[in-house]
Amino acid sequence: MKRLLCFILSLCFVLGLAAVAPADKLFVKAEAASSVTGGTLNSATFIIDPGHGGSDPGAMLGSREEADDVLRLSLRVAQLIVASGETCALTRINDATHDLDEKTAIANNGNFDYFVSIHRNASGVGGVGIESYYYSGASSTSAGAKLCTSIHNSMVATGVWTRNRGVKTAGYYVLKYTNMPATLLEVGFIDVESENVIFDTHFETIAVSIANGMLAMVGKSVNTTKYESGMESPYGAKVTNGTVSASATISKTKEVDNFALKGWTLHTEGISSVRYSVDNGSYTNLSTATRSDIQSSVSGYSDYSNCGFSGNIPCDNLSAGNHTITIQAVTKKSNTYTVAKITLTVEDPIEDFVLNSSSDFTMDETFVTVKNTGLKASEIAAEFKCTVKLFSASGVQLSDNAIGGTGCVVKYLSDTGALIASATVVIPGDLTGDGTINTTDLACAHKLIGLGYDYSNVFNIAGDVTGDKVLNTADYLTVRKHCDGSNNIYG
Ligand SMILES: [Zn+2]
Repeated sequence: MKRLLCFILSLCFVLGLAAVAPADKLFVKAEAASSVTGGTLNSATFIIDPGHGGSDPGAMLGSREEADDVLRLSLRVAQLIVASGETCALTRINDATHDLDEKTAIANNGNFDYFVSIHRNASGVGGVGIESYYYSGASSTSAGAKLCTSIHNSMVATGVWTRNRGVKTAGYYVLKYTNMPATLLEVGFIDVESENVIFDTHFETIAVSIANGMLAMVGKSVNTTKYESGMESPYGAKVTNGTVSASATISKTKEVDNFALKGWTLHTEGISSVRYSVDNGSYTNLSTATRSDIQSSVSGYSDYSNCGFSGNIPCDNLSAGNHTITIQAVTKKSNTYTVAKITLTVEDPIEDFVLNSSSDFTMDETFVTVKNTGLKASEIAAEFKCTVKLFSASGVQLSDNAIGGTGCVVKYLSDTGALIASATVVIPGDLTGDGTINTTDLACAHKLIGLGYDYSNVFNIAGDVTGDKVLNTADYLTVRKHCDGSNNIYG
């Protein structure tokens, strides 16, 4: 009886009687539309009709049913639309059986702006590609034609399909009898195995393309926030589903250290560049590269180029205290997102350094000075990996063969010979006690004397000033007490 009723109703439409028929006569009893998570949804921007279902499997290849393929695809498209902040209902979310008049009624009985019926094609003669339909009675400028064209072009743009069969018109039931702009999609041929390989391999891409074609009708696009990010130990900032879930705090010493950044990030749109800012200032690009190790361990992204990033943030110019380092990625579609936020604590040794048993370096009786090394100036200079020149206390540069003595001035020069810092200082010896005089010792000396910070307040730490056989805070405080910066304790 239902089919007979349907036929009569259809005839009414064909005869142009729909406009004068009472509305209740046109009402077909049907279930309400469903939300993607279950439950009824009577009002939404979109309603998706997964073709066939239940006792009607649609086209088949072996045991593969069109009804299953299109349900899976429809659910994913609906998920993407909902995740993008738009509403979407479905005529079915499981293997339910609905006649075409029921499917149409589910849409018409609710309040929906656009109707999208998703199918897979079959020809029996090896057809390939995609084609999309709007109602043959609608004009090419109708909303239905625009909806159809928008989705079809979006699917074509993926490049995954071997043939574009075009936008077409037809008098299909669901196109003809739905009250809202409607389209019917034939998403590849289910009876050709190579088409099913495309469907399965590029399932997510296809779903995103359909969702994007639909969302374009309301000026939106799929919100592709799926990205992952990892930072190398020990920084540890992590991103999950678009949110920086943890930030790291690290400490660096002014002048002595750089902050070395290294990590990776992935985004569904691909990565164009990765950059950082300090305290929300302007961005500086980091180096990027393909990270094959990440590609092999994190799947689900189509583009792994530029996913690795690295670089150094110099700490010289940062003030003491906390700084916020923001690492930002720019996608290949010019969208940006935060990869990590890191709190960088910069220590200023002049203000904060305390020499005691918990200091991060040790000094003992092996501490020596120029005063008792008897080394020539050239020999002392050679102990430094950076370029240093030795000067007398009165500022005269020492000849290479001069014996370094009390009150030398060390000048710390760049590779090109430019002055970086200087101070009146006793040449530091083996501060770290490792048996060699090297840049580690120089770094220790920097911490002690503030080389390069405040030349009017330079203190020489010459060793065991207090004579207690230990170089410690008492020595430092004693030196401070007896020096005013223009003198040194041997001068
Ligand atoms: Zn079908």
